[in-house]
This record gives sequence, structure tokens and C-alpha cells, in this order.
Amino acid sequence: MAFTKKTVRDIDVKGKKVLMRVDFNVPLKDGVVTDDTRVRAAIPTIQYLKEQGAAIILMSHLGRPKGDGPEPELSLKPAADKLAELTGYDVKFVPDTYGDEAAAACAAIKPGEIVVLENVRFLKAEKKNDPEVAKKLASYGDIFVLDAFGTAHRAQGSVVGPAAYLPAVAGFLLEKEVDTLTSIFAEPERPFVAIVGGSKVSSKIGVLDHLIDSADTLIIGGGMAYTFFLAKGYTVGTSLKEEDWVERAGEMLKKAEAKGVKILLPVDNVVAPEFKDEPGTVVDSDKIPDDMMGMDIGPKTEELYAEAIKGAKTVFWNGPTGVFEFENFQHGTKAVAEAVAEVKAAGGTSIIGGGDSVAAINKFGLADKMSWISTGGGASMELVEGKALPGVEALLDA
Ligand code: ADP
Ligand code: MG
Repeated sequence: MAFTKKTVRDIDVKGKKVLMRVDFNVPLKDGVVTDDTRVRAAIPTIQYLKEQGAAIILMSHLGRPKGDGPEPELSLKPAADKLAELTGYDVKFVPDTYGDEAAAACAAIKPGEIVVLENVRFLKAEKKNDPEVAKKLASYGDIFVLDAFGTAHRAQGSVVGPAAYLPAVAGFLLEKEVDTLTSIFAEPERPFVAIVGGSKVSSKIGVLDHLIDSADTLIIGGGMAYTFFLAKGYTVGTSLKEEDWVERAGEMLKKAEAKGVKILLPVDNVVAPEFKDEPGTVVDSDKIPDDMMGMDIGPKTEELYAEAIKGAKTVFWNGPTGVFEFENFQHGTKAVAEAVAEVKAAGGTSIIGGGDSVAAINKFGLADKMSWISTGGGASMELVEGKALPGVEALLDA
């Protein structure tokens, strides 16, 4: 539908060496993968390629290496081990990326075999999309596959580089992510309710702006709500606020009104004297005391939001509606998550993007009740802002 690039389905991979950029940027603790979501997400494409008789060379970054050489605690070996564990496949880890050992392993690889190269970011030039990096990596394979949705918004050597030298196509994860996240702008089933929270308006301007073009209702929560309050002439006490963005927030409210998009802002809030995990007090939005800050949406707002969400056929959610990391201020975000979780059960579609929103849903154990949870924080936001992703742009047109 919305995906206009070639995928692994459109190219003959049998007997070919497939160089694939995946997103194995997983959290580690003491050398063990603590959340294998991203490794799991890459398996359908790996499985397909293996069944088609391709030799598979996988590469990824992990963490933020300095780029001056190997850093053992940021090795991709634990991710390679996890892939072997989850699939039962033999997975060969090679502790090299750009040197002779990697080249030899890629030269020797046979159809059906899987090699995982070391962290691509152990070399500084990778992040700059240096043509030498791209050429080197491309020399390992016959076909380039991009399945690393989480880094598809970065024009880096291992993400876009090989596409200049090899036929380049998308993997299934990349295709599904782009398709799903752009579908909310193409032809969403209506009503389409978007929920945007998080800390700052400034970091979500593009997201809010683009969502107003498509949504029927836009629910605003979290820290950014207070800048909208200022635009409406309320006082917000010591709540998070961005004075420089008040005017822009006001313009956005006007744009929504002109387009007939309903905006929902909190009607009550849980406030506290300090940014601390201690019980708060509920106050209406026009009565926030001067010495208090808004930490969560209040019970009336929870009900208002849940009602709007329940009537939706499509829901997109990005950004917690309160400081959900604190036990005392997670209630509102949980109420929103529970309402969103009912949408899929009722035959609608719920799409979640953004790192902290996903963390919140996992914390509440509601992940399997959502239609789609994006594996890419930054990349998902750029798509929702309506931007093209460099990694996707570099692929062959369908
Ligand atoms: P995402 O990663 O889902 O895009 P953001 O990074 O934009 O979300 O925002 C998440 C952060 O917003 C969380 O750390 C949360 O504590 C914070 N936040 C939510 N509500 C408030 C609030 N009322 N005051 C301050 N911070 C808030
Ligand atoms: Mg975040």
C-alpha cells in the first residue's frame, strides 16, 4: 500500500550472499540481552532468506561506541547468541567488521549459513557514511537488504552506503513499519484518534502538526500539555513549560479548530510540590497552584480520554501522559494504555510509536493487546512527521 520500494520478495536471492543491516541494538546487562524484541523482529526476514537458499551476512550497531576500536562490552556477540537461541540456527559470530577476518568469513560463507559481523560503529567513519566503509561492506555480498527500521532515519555507512554498490531491497520488518506508520495518514479507518504526550512540545511539533492533518481527535497529555494551557491563558504553576513555544502551541490549536479536529487537553491534573515520587493532589486545569507542578492527568481526564479512545477505529499513541516512571504518577498513562488496549479487541487498529510509550506499555503488560508497536523510536517519529527515511529512499523502487 504505502510502501513503494522493492522487498526481499522482489529479488532472486537463491545462492546469493545477502548483506543485511539489522537493528540488533539491544539492551545488555553483564553480557546478556535483557530485551530481545529487536532480535525477534528481524527473524521473519532471516528465516525467509535462509529458506530461499541465501547466505546471510548480518551487521548492526549496538550502543554508542567511541568509534576508535573494539569495546568488548558493546560487542554484538550476545545478540548473535540470542539469534541462535531463538531460531535454533547455527549462527557464526565474527569479531571483526572491516578487516581481513570479516572479509574471509564473508568469502567463505555458503548458502543457508548465517554470519554476524561485529558492531559496525567500532569505526568512526561508519557514522559519516564514508564511501570507503560502504564499498568495503558492499564487497561482502551480492545483494543488500535493509531491515533495520530503528536506524533507517540515519544516513550512515551500513544503513545507506551499500545501496550505492549493490541491488538494495527492504526486509519485512522495514516494510511493515513504514506501511503501518504511514497508513495513519493515507487512509485511516475513522474515527482516527491520536494521543500525543511526553515532556516537550518542541520535540513533538512536527508530529502534532502532521497528525492534525489526518486525525479526527487529537488528545494532548504529559508535560507538553502545560505549554498548551499557557496558550489558552491558564497559569501552570511550576509545571514543565516552554515559553518560547506558547505561540506555536496556540497556532496549532487554531489550525485544529479550522480543520474541525477536536483537541482534548487535560481537565484535571495530579500536581505535586516537587519532581519526586510522592503522592500528589488532584486539581482542575484552571486551578493549578503557583507552587505546584503537573505530574499526571487526573481522574476526570482519564475518563474523558478513555471515552474518546474507545470510540476510535484507528488509534496512534506517542508519549506518556504523565511521569509514568514514578509509581505515584503512572495512573493516567496506565488508564490511557488500558483504553488503547481495548481498541484492537473491538476490531480497530492501535499503533504505538516512541521509546518511552513502548516502555510504558511493556511496564503495564499490555504489549500483546496492541495491533503494532514500533521497534524504532526516532525513525517512527520521523515517519509520523511526514519525513522520508534516508535508508528507505536508497532502496530500489518497486
Ligand atoms: P516517547 O519516548 O514515547 O516519544 P517522550 O520521550 O516524548 O516520549 O516523553 C517521555 C517523558 O515524558 C517521560 O520520561 C515522562 O516522565 C515525561 N513526562 C510525561 N508527563 C510529564 C509531566 N507532566 N512533567 C514532566 N515530564 C513528563
Ligand atoms: Mg523518549
